[in-house]
Amino acid sequence: MIPFNIPPKTGAELKYIEQAINSDKLCGDGQFSKKCEAWIEENFNTAKALLTPSCTAALELAAILIDIKEGDEVIMPSYTFVSTANAFVLRGAKIIFIDVRPDTMNMDASLIEAAITPKTRAIVPVHYAGVACEMDTILTIAEKHELWVIEDAAQGVMSTYKGKALGAIGHIGCFSFHETKNYSSGGEGGAILINDPKLVARAEIIREKGTNRSQFLHGIVDKYTWQDIGSSFLPSELQAAYLYAQLESASEINDFRLSLWNNYYTEFSKILQPAQLPHIPNDLKHNAHMFYIKLGTSEERAKFISFMKTCDIITPFHYIPLHSSPAGMQFGKFMGNDKYTSLESSKLVRLPLYFGMTLAEQQKVVESAMEFFS
Ligand SMILES: *Cc1c(COP(=O)(O)O)cnc(C)c1O
Repeated sequence: MIPFNIPPKTGAELKYIEQAINSDKLCGDGQFSKKCEAWIEENFNTAKALLTPSCTAALELAAILIDIKEGDEVIMPSYTFVSTANAFVLRGAKIIFIDVRPDTMNMDASLIEAAITPKTRAIVPVHYAGVACEMDTILTIAEKHELWVIEDAAQGVMSTYKGKALGAIGHIGCFSFHETKNYSSGGEGGAILINDPKLVARAEIIREKGTNRSQFLHGIVDKYTWQDIGSSFLPSELQAAYLYAQLESASEINDFRLSLWNNYYTEFSKILQPAQLPHIPNDLKHNAHMFYIKLGTSEERAKFISFMKTCDIITPFHYIPLHSSPAGMQFGKFMGNDKYTSLESSKLVRLPLYFGMTLAEQQKVVESAMEFFS
């Protein structure tokens, strides 16, 4: 059986987890959390990185931090994970969904301005498959209309756009270290990147249950008290220790994934049309988070998935567009025409790709798919 994903393992996880256990300090913000945060700050050039229990939690923290309130509007693609929308709906916002570009499945930045109203507060680009959205255009629009830009970079760790790390470009970026992502902190995990230095102090307060405990630990205040709304957005040291082992091998994991991705691309470009393959625009480097192909129709996709299953290969489809879901209809609305979101997402299927996948396994996936297409 070839699964769709196997969580990444580098071999150093147990050693670091043991060190964390022996440090007798397992709650959040211990030595491994600090090491991971410093690693992210150095490698991705952000003012402040803070680990969170998940990307979902990072998005929720972001929505509190930019003061999203009842009646505000937030613009995002409909083709994304539920957490992208939920984080803002929890604060009372209405979600304005816009269409994707068929070539990258990212929000079509040319549709943003038409979706802006006096109630709009934020734009949330989702870097699908670790391929960057058109950030220059998005930032220009955001500046013109005084909007926040919160990057959902759950899939974008180690990708860049014009040399800048995804997640470190907007005001705030959110990473996922869930086991299905390129780097894991032991199953669940995430980080928030605070790129606007003005937001750092309040981010630390919200993350520490609304207290200024972090300032207390830094010796800035002599006692800590309740300052603001907040929650517990800290992961345990065990998760940070696991993650540190993965971050240390980040380049190795990235290169490994890219090589698998490139193999798939070479093989499938021999038999599929360019529109059926992922497109990587110029000026960016992706992290091979995902290799997908598009079938002719959703019926053909269903046949492909069952055929691959008979070959013991798992090839899942992906998001059901949020605007067509019950909660999406209640809390959001699609602005403009759904020209590509529903159609393109109904044809997309993802192929197995994970750190440690053997070339023999990949060969079997390619050969089985070729058999289907012939
Ligand atoms: C995985 C993912 C999330 C959620 O990440 P968690 O760490 O599981 O909370 C959010 N947005 C996108 C685009 C994702 O792919």
